[in-house]
Amino acid sequence: MTILTVEGLTKFYGRTQALQEVSLEVPQGSIFGVLGPNGSGKTTLLGIVLDILLASSGSFRWAPGLKRGALLETPNFYPYLTGRENLRIVAELRGRGGDRVGDALAVVGLDSYEAMPFSKYSLGMKQRLAIGATLIGSPEVVVLDEPTNGLDPAGIADVRELIRSLRGEGKTVVLASHMLDEVEKVCTHVAILKKGKVLSQGPLEEVLRDEDRLEVKSDDLEALVQLLQGHPLAPKVQRGDGILAVTFDAGAMKPAELNRYCLEGGQTLSHLVLRKKTLESRFLELTD
Ligand code: ADP
Repeated sequence: MTILTVEGLTKFYGRTQALQEVSLEVPQGSIFGVLGPNGSGKTTLLGIVLDILLASSGSFRWAPGLKRGALLETPNFYPYLTGRENLRIVAELRGRGGDRVGDALAVVGLDSYEAMPFSKYSLGMKQRLAIGATLIGSPEVVVLDEPTNGLDPAGIADVRELIRSLRGEGKTVVLASHMLDEVEKVCTHVAILKKGKVLSQGPLEEVLRDEDRLEVKSDDLEALVQLLQGHPLAPKVQRGDGILAVTFDAGAMKPAELNRYCLEGGQTLSHLVLRKKTLESRFLELTD
């Protein structure tokens, strides 16, 4: 089931176009990462689907009857009040009883620190409390903008664990991040944004799949293209300058096997090189 459908969202700030025809689908129960460099439109996209910003055109719809919690900007907690007192205030401001405050503190792992003043919290604990505030009212969907920004490695690991545990409770999490590493470690699905456009989206392993690229040459490139396009593993075949780049899933094809396949198909390769691709290079390729 799809929990959020976005269709053709476009957003202009004056003459700046922040989103161009963005369409995506967030499956229920996923951790959906919107991945892109700074300025690619992530916050704008989240702001629109949270009804904080108006789109210039396009539409979106949430599955009906779902409660949402969101963290777009770091909330201003009172430094001298405890974690529990701060969440109580959040609950009251939202017209929710204080009964859920204990649950929220437990989910974010702050129940043993609930009586500590906010000012004494580590950065990671502060961010966990901010995520805890989104859980007041027991939302089924939690939307987080750059949830690990400004955290040290321990804080990042904490928040990552917390996001996983939210999914474990059956919640859907939508998060924006400019860090490939963060998305790769926690997300089940990803949409890659570049300059306001979706470059690619889907299950993480499909979008950021490791690939092996083989470069090949023969005397008859045209015939070689035909032959490779007919390969049962359906590789991606791209033409370069007198050379072909053939992309397979990582580990799916060994150079010697490809060589044999080509020979058997009547093509003698004059050049065959394997170039492994890391997720990092794949991401750079998508966003550069
Ligand atoms: P991201 O969250 O990926 O960093 P943003 O959604 O914040 O991207 O920004 C996308 C683009 O829109 C950027 O070019 C940014 O400068 C521009 N932008 C964002 N907010 C505003 C605003 N309030 N007024 C004008 N331009 C904005």
